[in-house]
Amino acid sequence: MFAIEARKLGYRVHTYSPVSDTPTGHISDFEIAADYRDLDRVRDFARDVDVVTFEFENVPSTTIETAAEFAPVHPKGDVLHTTQNRLREKTFLSTNGFPVARYSHVTSLDSLKAAVHDIGHPSVLKTAGFGYDGKGQRKVTNIDDCDDAFHGIGGEEAILESFIDFEKEVSVVAARDAEGNFAHFGVIENDHRNHILDVSFAPAEVTSKLRDEAVQITRGIAEKFGYVGTLCVEFFVTGHDELLVNEIAPRPHNSGHLTFDASVTCQFEQQVRAVCGLPLGSTELMRPAAMANLLGDLWENGEPDWSRVLKDADVKLHLYGKAEARPGRKMGHITAMADSPREAVRIVVDARNSLID
Ligand code: AMP
Repeated sequence: MFAIEARKLGYRVHTYSPVSDTPTGHISDFEIAADYRDLDRVRDFARDVDVVTFEFENVPSTTIETAAEFAPVHPKGDVLHTTQNRLREKTFLSTNGFPVARYSHVTSLDSLKAAVHDIGHPSVLKTAGFGYDGKGQRKVTNIDDCDDAFHGIGGEEAILESFIDFEKEVSVVAARDAEGNFAHFGVIENDHRNHILDVSFAPAEVTSKLRDEAVQITRGIAEKFGYVGTLCVEFFVTGHDELLVNEIAPRPHNSGHLTFDASVTCQFEQQVRAVCGLPLGSTELMRPAAMANLLGDLWENGEPDWSRVLKDADVKLHLYGKAEARPGRKMGHITAMADSPREAVRIVVDARNSLID
């Protein structure tokens, strides 16, 4: 989706990833399939481009540092270094005064037990590195769960976080350019299923006070990082109408996919503009909108019949062209606009349900 927007603005796109025949590769001028740690290939790639960005936060820091010797990288490698590890991310957030759930560093089974005593239960054990969509997470409901939970995440370095009985989850997608200009897409409300984003809608059903706070926190984070590009901050909204930052995504985010059809400038175009040094575009939401993810589970009996979805003329279908559908894998999404966010949700959910016999 980034490459589509870059091409619309007349740019050529080179892509680097460990596999070939990728969705971005399909529409790129040039695709390198090489390991992220193959630094000679990374150098060759970076020598040929004017600017580098990334869409996946588990790219190793050394890859980004190597690329940065030849071309500017936005956002900066140290943003990636911080956000790709939950402990570093939480430390960054809490030391800079941004609100987060109580957490503790876990390095062994004994330190997990100590953390459960300290933080209490229920709590959530999360691997420090390489986690997203609930991967590498275990809920700890009592002290006897520690053994299973620690081994369940592979006995790796982790954080234990108090379990938040949230009212809802929301996110703010925003962009900042090199001059410090900031533009946000308002607050988006998100429903997860099995820890994976299921449906998003905008504007979120939150008070204006909470909306302003969420935007201010996002802006504060972008400024602390000296961020250039599109980012997303995910929040829990507690029963006391308080915000806690759950995660920062240093890239366009799934919850912002509804901006593709519903905003004057979408989150991907905004990313292109920010990293290429162009002025940011209007983030105005043209109408209330919703998005429903299409996971690989829908391919259980072969390619779904897309004409069922498109029977509703208000529905827009986005398929990523991923080679293989697997359960839980994000394969595409549906968006719709309507007079109210709830009506837009109804449209996208009905359209998705029409695929299931
Ligand atoms: P994450 O990969 O950390 O974003 O977690 C994925 C989803 O798991 C979140 O969007 C929440 O729905 C849920 N989750 C993660 N951490 C917590 C927590 N501390 N308390 C309650 N739910 C959580």
